[in-house]
Amino acid sequence: MIIQKFGGTSLGTPERMQSIAQLIADGERKVIVLSAVSGTTNTLVQICTALHKRDEDEALLLADNLESLYKQFIESLFSKVSEPSFKEETFEIIEAYLNGIRSYSKKLFSPFIERSILAQGELISTNIFHQYLKSEGKKSVLLNALDFMRTDSSGEPDQKFIEENLQFELSKHPKKNLFICQGYICRNAFGEIDNLKRGGSDYSASLIGAAIHAKNIQIWTDIDGMHNNDPRVVDNTQPIKELSFKEAAELAYFGAKILHPASIRPAEEKNIPVWLKNTLDSNAHGTLIHAESLTKGFKAVAAKEGITAIKIRSGRMLMAYGFLRNVFEVFERFKTPIDMITTSEVAVSVTIDEVTNLEGIVKELKNFGSVEVDQDQTIVCVVGNYSAEGMGYASKIFTALDKIPIRMISYGGSNHNVSVLIKTEQKKAALTALNKGVFNL
Ligand code: ASP
Ligand code: MG
Repeated sequence: MIIQKFGGTSLGTPERMQSIAQLIADGERKVIVLSAVSGTTNTLVQICTALHKRDEDEALLLADNLESLYKQFIESLFSKVSEPSFKEETFEIIEAYLNGIRSYSKKLFSPFIERSILAQGELISTNIFHQYLKSEGKKSVLLNALDFMRTDSSGEPDQKFIEENLQFELSKHPKKNLFICQGYICRNAFGEIDNLKRGGSDYSASLIGAAIHAKNIQIWTDIDGMHNNDPRVVDNTQPIKELSFKEAAELAYFGAKILHPASIRPAEEKNIPVWLKNTLDSNAHGTLIHAESLTKGFKAVAAKEGITAIKIRSGRMLMAYGFLRNVFEVFERFKTPIDMITTSEVAVSVTIDEVTNLEGIVKELKNFGSVEVDQDQTIVCVVGNYSAEGMGYASKIFTALDKIPIRMISYGGSNHNVSVLIKTEQKKAALTALNKGVFNL
């Protein structure tokens, strides 16, 4: 079996949904994982915000607007379908979901209600798509992710549960080839409706692929794969043909928006190739992510903004052991992950992107020495396949960046990543310089 996941913009208009219905119709046995139609999850977040503020009128207005958007969508999606019952049935399904959302506005708002509301987008999109396939005579089965997607008590996907229950659901339909299911949504360890966080549909696709040992996992968006640089910031970027899981994970984590960072691991664990493909150009090669990278050298640049650098300088660090452990323990106590780290004999610099506990962290670090904090920093990471014997990688990067002030450098942590920390105001200049100097673009 294969997995094909389509994001919100790929479903964003009735025409695009129709073209996806064509694209998937090749007879291969598969699970189609869908996001919510673009904009829907944001509107659901707004509804929750309104309910949180006890602004029931605003919440109802947003729900009404969403309903009329969907009515138009369905009207045009089924405009060429001669049998009217498919459209009528779809209207009824959507109305029921929206009535559900509206009924929550009468209740006391809670995190449980919030998560239930956020789940409606994917339930709606999969129902509409399933109805449309039916109207075209395609025999799809609509799965409910809430029957098998589950997180455990630490909030991590419960892979054993997912595997057993998804295989059970599929085993009910041995003769069917086309399964539709929601991305993003799941149940938590208490059995309540929950989700895999924003952008989590990619993660769902990867978990589902791992659970059924899929032949491959295809993530369809509207760009022809992962690019060597951020196309929103730099002109002249180009798609990357292939990447290893490790390279892709670094890129996704450090800012390549095309793929949810957590979605690499389940595929990597089961060694299932992941394809990033373009719905607007389905014949384009896209990006293949697999175990071993076939090519050496530079692959791509990604940048992550909103970084804070913290430097701890201490005479006590000199020749001492245990100092770093003391420093790291502070971050651990405040549940704050560290991204980059560089050390000298008397100082250590680390970066974080989660600053909720910055004040407490700095206060405790001051017990060890002087502390300096720099905000508005950006990590620029140059990902590639750099073996230790490979020469000239660092010099090429730093020659390209010779006009950019650099605050930190990290090289050698893995064979796949050279990272530098710069001021965010220098980000565009840095990405442009690397595109020219490293990729000759
Ligand atoms: N619909 C969810 C979101 O907008 C999940 C996803 O699209 O991946 O974040
Ligand atoms: Mg996405």
